[in-house]
Amino acid sequence: MFLIPFNKPFSTGNEWAYIQDATKEGKLAADGKYTRKCQSFFEKKYGFKKTFLTHSCTHALEMAALLMDLQLGDEIILPSYTYVSTANAFALRGCKIVFADCRSDYPGIDVGNLPQLITAKTKAIVAVHYGGISCDMDELLAVSQRHNLYLLEDAAAGIEGYYTGKNQIKRPLGSFGHFATFSFHETKNISCGEGGMLVINDAKFIDKANLVWNRGTNKKDFALGKANKYEWISLGSAFAPSEINAAWLWAQLEQIEAIQASREKVWHWHQDNLPKLLEEFDLEWMTVPKHSGNNFHLYYALAKNLKHREQVLNFFKHKKILAVFHYQSLHSSPYYLSQNFKKINLCQADKFSERLIRFPLYSNLDTDKLKQLLLN
Ligand SMILES: *Cc1c(COP(=O)(O)O)cnc(C)c1O
Repeated sequence: MFLIPFNKPFSTGNEWAYIQDATKEGKLAADGKYTRKCQSFFEKKYGFKKTFLTHSCTHALEMAALLMDLQLGDEIILPSYTYVSTANAFALRGCKIVFADCRSDYPGIDVGNLPQLITAKTKAIVAVHYGGISCDMDELLAVSQRHNLYLLEDAAAGIEGYYTGKNQIKRPLGSFGHFATFSFHETKNISCGEGGMLVINDAKFIDKANLVWNRGTNKKDFALGKANKYEWISLGSAFAPSEINAAWLWAQLEQIEAIQASREKVWHWHQDNLPKLLEEFDLEWMTVPKHSGNNFHLYYALAKNLKHREQVLNFFKHKKILAVFHYQSLHSSPYYLSQNFKKINLCQADKFSERLIRFPLYSNLDTDKLKQLLLN
């Protein structure tokens, strides 16, 4: 058993009261009071044009892929160093996945890598804000606009993250792309167990998104009296979560500042103490690029190689602390290789796959206990 787990889902204490309140409304399916409270919170706080709660970031990515109206063989560029869902959403639509490499200094997509990957069939670039650390959005917007491509931000872990552009204006992650996706999985800063959100910043997709979100039907127009029949209009699925999930999420959103402040404290404790406490391992410590804010989602370091990482992870295990690695490059994954895609070489993605270590970080982590365990 670990005395310090890698993650511990935080609850504010108000979740149950809001769930009870939702049951009193007599409407527990999707798109009720709490769903709307959450969606308008995000729209007001971050300036997103329209948001849709979903069951997961995975579902939000699948919804975005449906909205892009992709054809078999269309190409989507995304980083190899990401969670499988980023790729799956497009593989499910019959697209060809084209993997880009990471930067060398942080795991965001290497924009310099993109022009050589763009072809006449490319439809979209997906940028993953790894661990809430922003990609270079000025550069990404320039490339996607130059080639007339959709830009999707996978901001799964990016809530409260931001980017400061060349014009020095600070903008929230998720406000740049035609689409952006967020996760409220229990491992993310704000959670409802399993949950997610699709952000639409280009208004022309909103009507269609209402159909796709509602199982491909015109349920919303019908409910508003704008349609006299309730029919199958487009492809879609059951993307909208129940009011129970939304009520839980609302309790967290109400206390987002306190949650973030608590994570910030732990992040800075790591920054100030871990290098000294782990000096013997000679790790390369994470840096946050100048253009990026910090939403305190994760704290990581790089070991020298796979074997060295194993030693560090074992050291933590013996101290009853759970430190973990992260994504395995998708360009080397069994599924990708089984599809007869040719083996490609993306050395930065492999570097982060083999060398990255994440340390425990959650609200109210007991740093005194962590220190004591590390020194024992
Ligand atoms: C967590 C994560 C996801 C998946 O989110 P779910 O809500 O669990 O589906 C997708 N992409 C990235 C980059 C993630 O970190």
